[in-house]
Amino acid sequence: ERRQEDVWGDRPCDTDPCPNRTLEHIVIFHARDYKPQPRWRELNAVDPNATYIGFHTTTSQAAVGIAHSEFRPSSSGMLGSGAYFARSVEDTIGKANSYGAWIIAEIRMGKVFEINKKQIYPRFNNPHYNANLHHFVQSGGWHKEYDTCYLNHEMDRKDEFCIKNPQEQIIKWVIVIERQNDAKVSQYGLDTEFDSTKCGCI
Ligand SMILES: [Zn+2]
Repeated sequence: ERRQEDVWGDRPCDTDPCPNRTLEHIVIFHARDYKPQPRWRELNAVDPNATYIGFHTTTSQAAVGIAHSEFRPSSSGMLGSGAYFARSVEDTIGKANSYGAWIIAEIRMGKVFEINKKQIYPRFNNPHYNANLHHFVQSGGWHKEYDTCYLNHEMDRKDEFCIKNPQEQIIKWVIVIERQNDAKVSQYGLDTEFDSTKCGCI
């Protein structure tokens, strides 16, 4: 079997911007930066049918639970209930190390409600703060008409988003268990393939 060089090559990928948006390629070459994709708004403007890539840090135990069953949404959070993803794992990789695992997923964004972080950040003297919007977002008011709530952060690599229906919106995912947690992989029964999902990391 001939390996795909663009996916499993032995050199770092320095194509910038990189057009390769397969999860396997991103996990191996771009997991720690945010080069594989522009902000949602920019990508969507160029290709309205584009899917998006999201990163989600979790414990290796929870990751295994997800692999065996399904992606369970959080009941609450800054953007209301749903499944949370970051646009880049760059700033959460420190946390990912302590969590032990992360998930990279290809996501159907659907209808997207976009906000800016400063609009919902109730800091003293913040002229952009909008209390109604803050409540609308945090209570999941966007669920009625939208599939996804996308938060534009002041530092664009910190953007995050919340999807309403992970079962329908997550097209596929790859789970990555950090090296120091490798020992747990067999303990959790992840070293055998199972039918419901395909784990690209082992
Ligand atoms: Zn690349």
